Parts: sequence; C-alpha cells; structure tokens
Amino acid sequence: MHNIWSRLRNDAQLAIITCAGLLGLVSLSPFAFYRWVQGDLAMVVIDSLLTLFTAFALYVSWFHNKAALAGQILGVLYAIGATIVAVLLPESGLYWFYCVILFNFFIMPPLRSTIITLASLAVLCGYGWLFAGVFKDAQHLILFAATSLVCSLFAYMFAWRTTQQRRRLQQLANMDPLTGIGNRRTLMNEMEIALANYRRHGTPCGLLLLDIDHFKSINDSFGHAEGDRVLVELARLVWKSSRRTDRLFRLGGEEFVLLLPNIDMAGLTTAGQSIVLTVAGQLRSCGKQVTVSIGGALLEPGDDSISWMHRADVCLYQAKAAGRNRSIIHSPAINH
Ligand code: GH3
Ligand code: MG
Ligand code: MG
Repeated sequence: MHNIWSRLRNDAQLAIITCAGLLGLVSLSPFAFYRWVQGDLAMVVIDSLLTLFTAFALYVSWFHNKAALAGQILGVLYAIGATIVAVLLPESGLYWFYCVILFNFFIMPPLRSTIITLASLAVLCGYGWLFAGVFKDAQHLILFAATSLVCSLFAYMFAWRTTQQRRRLQQLANMDPLTGIGNRRTLMNEMEIALANYRRHGTPCGLLLLDIDHFKSINDSFGHAEGDRVLVELARLVWKSSRRTDRLFRLGGEEFVLLLPNIDMAGLTTAGQSIVLTVAGQLRSCGKQVTVSIGGALLEPGDDSISWMHRADVCLYQAKAAGRNRSIIHSPAINH
C-alpha cells in the first residue's frame, strides 16, 4: 500500500492515468450493463471494449512503466469511441464528446490532444453533414461544432498553463539559481542513473569534485557580490572546457561536481588537470588569480553514490593539503 502511494506521489503521469482510468472504468462499465439491459448490442460492444482498453492501459502503466504511452492510446481510443457513440446515439451521444475533450487534455500534452480532438470533431461534423440522424439540422451541427471548439480552446489554455507551471516548478527544484547549472538534487539523480548504467551495462563514469581555493578571502576582500560573480564565471569556464556529454552541478557553496560518462583513468586525470590549468589561467577576481583544487574518482564495482563521492572527497582533501591548485584522482592501486 505504501509502495502504491509513493509511486503515485513521485510519478505525475502515472497518477493522472490512474485517476483518469479509474474515472473511465467507473463511468463506462455501468453504461455497458445499462445498454445490455436495453438490448443495444452495438453499444454494449463499444462500452465493453472501451472498459477493457482502459483496464489494459492501467495495467501497462502500473506494471510496465509506460504511463505516457498508455495515456496517448487511451486518448485516441476515447476520441474514436465518442465519435462512434455520437453517430449511434443521436443527440444524447453528442454530450460524451465534451467529456472526451476534457479527458484528452487531462492525459495528453496540449498539442497532441488538440490534434486528436480537432480530427475527431471534423470526422463527426463531416459525417453529420453528409448523413442525417446525428444532428437535428444545420443549426444544431454549427452549435455543436462551435461549443466543442470553445471547450477545446479553454481546455488547451488551461493545459498549456499547467504544463508551463510544471516545467517552471521542475526548473526551480532542479537548478541552482545563481549559476543556472543543476543543483545537488539533480546531481544525486544523475549519480543514481550513472550507477544503474554501470551495474547494468558496465558503462564507466568519472566524478570530479571541485572546490575553489581560499574562496572565503574573495568574499572577505571584495564582497559577496564579487564572490557570486566568481562562482558564475567558474561554472562557465568548467562547462566550456568539458565534453558535450559531461554534466556540471553545484553541490553547494563553492563546491562543484563534474560527471564524466564513458571515461577511463587517463581521461579523468587529463580532464582534472586541464580544468585546474584553465581556471588558474583564466579566472581572476579583481585582478587576483583564482584557483581550484580537484578530487576525482572513477566508478568501481560495489559502489554506491556515497562511497563514490567519498573517494573523490578524500582526494580533494589531499589536493588541499598538498598545496591546492591541483587535481588528484583516486587510484585503487595507490590509495588502498
Ligand atoms: P579552502 O581553500 O580550504 O577551500 O578555503 P575556502 O575559503 O574556499 O573554504 P571555506 O569553506 O572556508 O569557505 C567557503 C566560503 O564560501 C564560505 C561561504 O561564506 C562562501 N559561500 C558559500 N556559498 C556562497 C555563495 O553562494 N556566494 C558567495 N559569494 N559565497 C558563498
Ligand atoms: Mg568548500
Ligand atoms: Mg574552498
């Protein structure tokens, strides 16, 4: 039970599909039974199929982690279902179309749901125009098309705003506001991904822990704002001199972490030395040279994020003790 709640809390897509799917099951299955009592076989088949597909989508989302795909399949199926129901049940069937519009914007990205809604609306209105029975007259058709379009427009605006807000929240939660790079939370996630890739596929990954030397004296001598500028400039320099696949994070204060996937001992050593040289050669604070010390470690069998980071931290401590402005990489042969 606890596992179910924690999955729902951590996976917004799964929570939406579950909520929408359960709502679909609760509203569809009684109708299948009601149509069966009425003897309307076509509607029994349609409602039963939609109920089955909804249950299947919930299964795929929960047991195969494919909530996004399940949502899109459901969106298309419900749109087709609502169109067929509107044709088979003139007048009363049309009302379901409004529910499907809202449902689609709820479970799919705004653009995709707009396309699916407009396509099914075009098919339904086109059919209603050509064949009698769906709409009472032309005025009814125009009224239905206009209200559906207005409903879609409002749903689109709401979905678009929600998507933007969610993106912004994600950015705020994962980004360091000063430097614009990933924060500690993002680093922990990326380290877990690197660990999983290492365990599953043996993909190597290196970690460099950077710490600005005597940073406190920059703050004390030139002020906090100058200290902030140095932090931003350091992040820019390191990011510029790293490979496209490397990822830089601010661990906190004047400490940064660079994750370097697909790298060996020689590559990690060169990368560390190159950053030390670049920073010493280019980073200045009010004319004074700024340097960094670096500790590094490659992922090793049996590692978790704490042991991996700890090895780099020990090396950083050694680099500081040895006089700063240098990079030391953990070497299993020497340091054990
Ligand atoms: P060391 O060479 O041993 O690393 O010494 P240090 O002075 O760099 O390290 P210390 O841990 O003594 O000081 C770090 C300072 O970083 C203390 C803190 O005020 C400052 N700091 C932490 N976060 C920020 C920030 O966001 N902006 C600024 N300007 N300073 C910060
Ligand atoms: Mg520090
Ligand atoms: Mg420092």
